[in-house]
Amino acid sequence: MDHDRFMAKLTDLREAGERIPCVGDDRWISDDRQAQAEAAQKCAGCPALAACGSYFERWPEPGGVWAGLTERARDGRAVGRRKKVAG
Ligand code: SF4
Repeated sequence: MDHDRFMAKLTDLREAGERIPCVGDDRWISDDRQAQAEAAQKCAGCPALAACGSYFERWPEPGGVWAGLTERARDGRAVGRRKKVAG
């Protein structure tokens, strides 16, 4: 999913009255591990979770929490992906 489609999805959901947990909450962009862990838990109830995961798979961002994954959690996945590609 590209950026424009992801943003449109978020807008559609918000206009439909859905709440996107990360909007207006700095825990998603915090450098604090505890704050990121709290944010990642809240992603579980996000109506955009699938779209967010799809976007992030295509356009991995280096910082913040995306689709329920903290930076720390993604580091482990990235190592696995690199091994898979290299192997
Ligand atoms: S799943 Fe994505 S859009 Fe939803 S709260 Fe988490 S980071 Fe935000």
